[in-house]
Amino acid sequence: MNFKELGLLNELLKAIEEKGYDSPTPIQQLAIPLVLEGTDLMAGAQTGTGKTAGFTLPLLQKLMLNCKHQHKVRALILTPTRELAAQVGENVKTYGKYLPLKSTVIFGGVNINPQINALRKGVEIVIATPGRLLDLTSQQALDLTSVEMLVLDEADRMLDMGFIHDIRKILAILPKNRQNLLFSATFSPEIKNLAASFLKSPKTIEAARHNTPAELVVQRIYPVDNQRKKELLSFLISSNNWKQVLVFARTKHGSNRLAQYLTKEKIPAAAIHGNKSQSARTKALEDFKQGAIRVLVATDIAARGLDINQLPHVINFELPNVPEDYVHRIGRTGRAGNAGEAISLVCIDEHKLLQDIERLLKKKIPSTIIAGYEPDPSIEAQPIPNGQNRRGHQTSFPKRHQHFHGKKPGTSK
Ligand code: AMP
Repeated sequence: MNFKELGLLNELLKAIEEKGYDSPTPIQQLAIPLVLEGTDLMAGAQTGTGKTAGFTLPLLQKLMLNCKHQHKVRALILTPTRELAAQVGENVKTYGKYLPLKSTVIFGGVNINPQINALRKGVEIVIATPGRLLDLTSQQALDLTSVEMLVLDEADRMLDMGFIHDIRKILAILPKNRQNLLFSATFSPEIKNLAASFLKSPKTIEAARHNTPAELVVQRIYPVDNQRKKELLSFLISSNNWKQVLVFARTKHGSNRLAQYLTKEKIPAAAIHGNKSQSARTKALEDFKQGAIRVLVATDIAARGLDINQLPHVINFELPNVPEDYVHRIGRTGRAGNAGEAISLVCIDEHKLLQDIERLLKKKIPSTIIAGYEPDPSIEAQPIPNGQNRRGHQTSFPKRHQHFHGKKPGTSK
């Protein structure tokens, strides 16, 4: 099947051709006709499946078929993170470049005034994170009374991050008569509950995972004492001359310390997490993609929604508290056809977490001790530092240090 057979407008086909896509991905083949028909959708698709074009292309087409040139907000796309909002915003601009529709991206952590100005000029499409969106509606800077289409992107992440109240508030102020699209990597009972509360006779579609860990990702465990993890990481990166490494750490402070340590060891690294300004995160990501820094140290939440898949190396400096997060993390590696490598540095304190992960994967991950980094048999397991709930969100910092996703509903981020 090709894009033309999906009945897309010439302006969209031209933009798609310029992007270099030959044929629609499975989720696009399923989603595009249904969205064009006006059906509500519950779509199971994670990053990497082409889901963004799956909702953006038909959304643009629907707005065009009924275009009043009034630049009122007619489509609202909600995303869990600033980065994802920015990426979806880019996609909307790219696919819509030959259409007269205007769009803007709205997220917290940056000055609100340029966003107010952009809205004042008039846009058809708003791509937003929930908190800042509510700030703008409460300031009467954003009128949502003309919204015809709502997309909830990465809905499971939004619930994980505690956005449920914000989402409910937003749903309550939207016009009742609208088309709803919900995209989520997983269909937990919470997601099904949310879906049941606002989708109207939805069709359910699902895209197979892009790269299942078993096929494309080689997983390894390197047992090592906790205090020697940094050294081992530096040794692995240097001795193998790895160029693009995504390292997952458990806390923001830990990520900072690790990035500083690696940089001192002459391995250019940057940390990316919620305490960093938006410009610092964008720069770190750009530097990483361009090769100016070799290592990006990220927390799970900061890494979500980042368009940095298909990396050669993903390293778990610490194992995640939630086994499913391990699968998400290692899904970042595995390049088209080539096997990627997912390495976990595991100290004695993490054996229980490792067991949980292996139970979820239904297999043991091969474990090798690196000469010179043998764990000291006299060290006993310590409980994993608390201050984290089951999802790995930090809960022990004072308010002003809380992660930007942990904000209270309706307040500025
Ligand atoms: P997404 O799942 O929306 O984050 O998209 C993942 C990646 O796939 C992005 O880099 C897109 O540019 C790319 N992509 C989307 N649709 C197609 C397609 N039909 N053919 C090739 N690549 C695509």
